[in-house]
Amino acid sequence: MSFGLPYADRRGRIFFDEQARALAADGFLREPRREELIPLPTGSVVAMLPGRAPLTGAASRPHAYGNGRYAAVGVLLPSGFTRLLLPAYQAGPAAPALPLFGYTFACVVDDELYVAAAKTDDGESWKPRFFEGDELERAIESRLALDPENAVLGQVALCSREYGCFTAQNVFFESGEAAIPVSPACNARCLGCISQQEPDAPFPAPQTRISRAADVAEIVRIATHHLALDPSGIVSFGQGCEGEPLMRYRTIVAAIREIRARTPLGTINLNTNGSLPEKLQETIEAGLQAVRVSLNSFRPEVYAAYYRPDRYGLEDVLESIRRACEAGLRVSLNLLTFPGVTDEEAELEAMETFLRGVRVEMVQTRTLNIDPDLYRHAVGEPVAPRGMLEALSRIRGAGSLVGNFTHQVL
Ligand code: SF4
Repeated sequence: MSFGLPYADRRGRIFFDEQARALAADGFLREPRREELIPLPTGSVVAMLPGRAPLTGAASRPHAYGNGRYAAVGVLLPSGFTRLLLPAYQAGPAAPALPLFGYTFACVVDDELYVAAAKTDDGESWKPRFFEGDELERAIESRLALDPENAVLGQVALCSREYGCFTAQNVFFESGEAAIPVSPACNARCLGCISQQEPDAPFPAPQTRISRAADVAEIVRIATHHLALDPSGIVSFGQGCEGEPLMRYRTIVAAIREIRARTPLGTINLNTNGSLPEKLQETIEAGLQAVRVSLNSFRPEVYAAYYRPDRYGLEDVLESIRRACEAGLRVSLNLLTFPGVTDEEAELEAMETFLRGVRVEMVQTRTLNIDPDLYRHAVGEPVAPRGMLEALSRIRGAGSLVGNFTHQVL
């Protein structure tokens, strides 16, 4: 069975050619399999890939569709879906670097757009939000009025308004998982960092990293207010607008102690790159209950190529995960997935070996938002990708749930 080709003209208008065969990429060119395709999910964004001609024809003899007159199409998936394949294209010499989004293969089935994706979560609280009038603005203003000097609250107000960050908005809606950014500094230089890019990077960071470290009193006021109003709520250090929270572990340790001196309610969570196991241990001893550790790979060289870590390595990250599991925390991984890397046989074997030795509750699959060529150039080409569906199934087989976000314990 072959699937039709979507493409875009120079003005970004999308067209379908059901006679042309759409090709996908996972490090190799291939046709999608039927079980890898689902109808375009609500909330998807269809994007043209400038300077990149869609590839069509047989995988062994592909050619650029329309002799370079048209652009390839990629789909940006909403939360709750995991990307299975990448769009296949031929980049022209003047193709600009793509901004930091997750580009997913799309094709045409019976005149409808389908994507290579799997539904991997359905948390209600992460569905697109629709506000009644100025509901968010009113919530922000009334909360700021209660604590006008709190600079952390000012930061999450910015993230709520400008970036539509759900965990920031939860601070003002006073329920669910609430963001508490703490650290401007980081000990990694991820190629796809959304809060800071180097001056010569080919694209800007989509968010501005916080410029000031949070202080203990500010954190405690936000956390205790939130947990008083939502006793099953979560307060989370480590957000998209900051660096690595463990760089401020003394502040976090003091804040956790103070929060727990005032309330036993809710869950205290840390989102981290896991680089500093000793510092993590101190936060655990202070009362941390849940941790989500981010990584792109269980192979040291692939990890280092993307994270570009400063004075730590993958083994430290894995040690952090082990310690959190041994201490009985709720442990999730934030696995930055990329077809042709995550599903590479060597990667799956390394992942299985590690997961079988620990008790990771959930592997949260996150699409790695980056220009595919840039990432492949950094981490190398695959030898034997098994397909992302097999990767998901092998994560489950190694004893972890697959999902996309942390769920509240009610
Ligand atoms: S660990 Fe997080 S904050 Fe640090 S560079 Fe990577 S993405 Fe950015």
